[in-house]
Amino acid sequence: MKQCIACGMPMKNQEDFANGDVEKDYCRYCARPDGTMQSYDEKLSSLTNFIVKTQGLDETAAGNAAKAMMAKLPAWKSE
Ligand SMILES: [Zn+2]
Repeated sequence: MKQCIACGMPMKNQEDFANGDVEKDYCRYCARPDGTMQSYDEKLSSLTNFIVKTQGLDETAAGNAAKAMMAKLPAWKSE
C-alpha cells in the first residue's frame, strides 16, 4: 500500500490519490485543484489549520506540531 509522501496518509482507494491518479505519490489533500503537489508552505499552513481545528492547539503550537510531522515525511526531507 502506498502512503502519501507529503502527509503520510495511507492511500487505499483510487479516489485517495491526487486526481484519482494511482501513479501519483501524494494524496488528494496534498494536491492543488490542478493536480500538482502543494508546496511546503501551502501544506504547512493547511496542516497547521487542521491541527488547530482537530486538536484545539493555538496556532504557534499547531505550527510546530505540523513542522515536526512534516519533517518525517519523504516529500519534505530536504526542507
Ligand atoms: Zn497527503
